[in-house]
Amino acid sequence: MILKLPLKPQALTILGSTGSIGTSTLDVVARHPNLFSVFALTGASKVDLMLEQCLRFKPIYALMVEDAPAKQLEALLQSKGSKTQVLRGAKNLDELASHPDVDTVMAAIVGAAGLSSCLAAARAGKRLLLANKEALVVGGELFLSEVRTGGAKLLPIDSEHSAIFQSLPEDSSTWRECVEKIILTASGGPFRSRSPDTLHLVTPAEACSHPNWVMGQKISVDSATMMNKCLEVIEAHYLFGLDPSKIDVVIHPQSIVHSMVEYKDTSVVAQLGTPDMRVPIAYGLGWPNRIESGAKPLHFQTTPPMSFEDFDSNEHRARFPGLLLAWEVLKATPGSPAVLNAANEIAVHSFLAGKIGFTQIHEVNLRTLELFVPSAPHTLEDLLELDARARQTALQVISELV
Ligand code: NAD
Ligand code: MG
Repeated sequence: MILKLPLKPQALTILGSTGSIGTSTLDVVARHPNLFSVFALTGASKVDLMLEQCLRFKPIYALMVEDAPAKQLEALLQSKGSKTQVLRGAKNLDELASHPDVDTVMAAIVGAAGLSSCLAAARAGKRLLLANKEALVVGGELFLSEVRTGGAKLLPIDSEHSAIFQSLPEDSSTWRECVEKIILTASGGPFRSRSPDTLHLVTPAEACSHPNWVMGQKISVDSATMMNKCLEVIEAHYLFGLDPSKIDVVIHPQSIVHSMVEYKDTSVVAQLGTPDMRVPIAYGLGWPNRIESGAKPLHFQTTPPMSFEDFDSNEHRARFPGLLLAWEVLKATPGSPAVLNAANEIAVHSFLAGKIGFTQIHEVNLRTLELFVPSAPHTLEDLLELDARARQTALQVISELV
């Protein structure tokens, strides 16, 4: 009799383990102790949560980006007899993402701060689970070429992109010929029916209370402005290699259909489920198999009626002017998506800090794109410089606004 040897557990580095995607990832990982082992966890500043995660998942390394939290974590872990080694500083993120003992990297840092570690994982040929959409928006073709040359496997974690990935044929060489378009669904966020005239009064707390999803602050604000969907259109363009004219958006307030693919023969294939990020996370972790996610199944008998609306109506254009920038920056000079992303990160940060109003986020994005026309980036250094200069421009725009 031939015995089937147990497969070696996938060794994981979870970049951004203390965030919303990071904690959901660990929730799925905890359900499958035989399938996964945790090699490294990283976070910016939440010491208590990182301590709890280290004691439970026993990673070899835990990294805190900031110095003081790293020191605090180290002392606390030592006092508990933990063997986890504490690292500090953003420069070590790349090493944890590309370490030879790591099979899979969950990229769940928020913003362009995650770009370098994503590229490191891509170059090292890892299985790369991408939640950090800003990294792909900024990295664009350069990111994809690192994935190709490094032999990495890029798996989308964003729920819409996971839905599209699940609805596309396995053979990516046929996507362009057989797909008419892909349709990203958008909930419309907390202000889908709010009068556009009152949007300037929106507070950070209101913007962060999403009707269907519990997420980090930045993506919550992006969902309220629909800049999240704008970034997702750009993300879809790079992930699936489709012309921007083949990417559509439809508003679907119930967030049950997570996105769809329309084929040449007009057939539409969609992925549905309850709005719970553990589903796309489990799909990425288990791919090409399916593993338990912990999410509640969908009961069609009790599901609220599903509705769909055009995002491109006059009212929605007034509410969500940022969404259309996706198609504009994809047509503009290479590097323009990175400029838009940088401006938006600065604008959202300033909004959350109470420095600018909600509707000024779009003003900052638009003005930064007008003022800063980039030259095409060819290296990571070019991209980082472009990102830094776009941020400076956005800060200057903000100083003129307030
Ligand atoms: P979050 O703010 O909850 O968590 C972010 C994580 O990144 C935290 O662990 C934080 O410590 C770490 N971090 C923050 N700044 C950092 C820096 N400068 N350097 C290194 N680490 C840093 O964010 P989130 O909601 O989990 O989102 C993470 C990413 O996933 C974002 O790109 C977001 O767009 C994407 N995403 C999130 C969701 C969701 O439901 N939350 C859904 C789809 C995609
Ligand atoms: Mg999404």
